[in-house]
Amino acid sequence: MIIVMKPGSGQELIDPVIERVRELGLNVHLSAGEERTIIGVVGLPLPPTLDEMLEVYPGVEQVVRVTKKFKLAGWDFHPNKTVFQVGEATIGGDEVTLIAGPCSVESEEQTLETARAVRAAGATLLRGGAYKPRTSPYEFRGLGERGLEILAAAREETGLGIITEVMTPGDVETVGRYTDIFQIGARNCQNYLLLEEVGKAGKPVMLKRGLSMMIEEWLLAAEYVMAQGNPDVILCERGIRTFETATRNTLDVSAVPVVQSLSHLPVFVDPSHAAGKRPFVAPLALAAVAAGADGLIVEVHPNPDHALSDGAQSLDFAEFRELTPRLAAVANAIGRSLPVPEGVSV
Ligand code: PEP
Ligand code: MN
Repeated sequence: MIIVMKPGSGQELIDPVIERVRELGLNVHLSAGEERTIIGVVGLPLPPTLDEMLEVYPGVEQVVRVTKKFKLAGWDFHPNKTVFQVGEATIGGDEVTLIAGPCSVESEEQTLETARAVRAAGATLLRGGAYKPRTSPYEFRGLGERGLEILAAAREETGLGIITEVMTPGDVETVGRYTDIFQIGARNCQNYLLLEEVGKAGKPVMLKRGLSMMIEEWLLAAEYVMAQGNPDVILCERGIRTFETATRNTLDVSAVPVVQSLSHLPVFVDPSHAAGKRPFVAPLALAAVAAGADGLIVEVHPNPDHALSDGAQSLDFAEFRELTPRLAAVANAIGRSLPVPEGVSV
């Protein structure tokens, strides 16, 4: 349910409404717009006469029952787009955000070298996995906490904020000591206890779409994080599983405008895990920006052929540097921007 306050209603009119809702054992989610405040009511059960109870308050203009399942992630509760800052990166604003870095943190040298290169090409956040979900248990599964220390050193040197995956509720505390954004991988996007744990951790969360996840399920996964009081969620389309084997996954470009029509949360695209093959990464990245993605997360490695994970889909430094000005050109064409450093041009 949402309570739409009359334009200009001050705190003296808002507070009694909030108090009444809380007395009933329900929670509120406030969205203070420039003109008016919207009070979202969360919790169950909603008393059948709640509408009438609240409509009598002097500041209340309208009480509306929300029928959508995703309440916090949807536009009804929050009529403005979610925008937040991570280090130098503004997420969800007019600028398209570029996250880049290796699939896995392999060594200090590999990570620092990549951080410098992606920063010089226009990335504002660094990715790198320290806890890796691998299909086979015999593959490289990450450096663990040592990997987090390396990421923190790269942030220290380059100023880039960092994003890294957390796989278990028990690791949230450790990963949270280092990272700026928690990444929830595709395989864990419906691990509800993990979602609740990162929801409590007080840092932004990127939710990769699960391999076979419908958009509604994905938004409900975001709801799990947000219901713990964390509003800073990014949704990341990374390709879904279809009958097609020519690519690793099928990039669902339509998810970008569809999710943006349903939710105020920023929508990113990972062209690397969708493509699975290096030559297809750039075209998918360009398509994602053209479709209106709020950001990209791209795998970049100093020597992709020797990468310990996902080398086949990782760009080398030159390929990434060639890509960013083309992304900027597409962003400009649709009225957005993607600032690249001086000297980086097509
Ligand atoms: C990754 O980002 O390296 C990764 C494992 O991604 P996903 O969870 O989308 O497969
Ligand atoms: Mn990867």
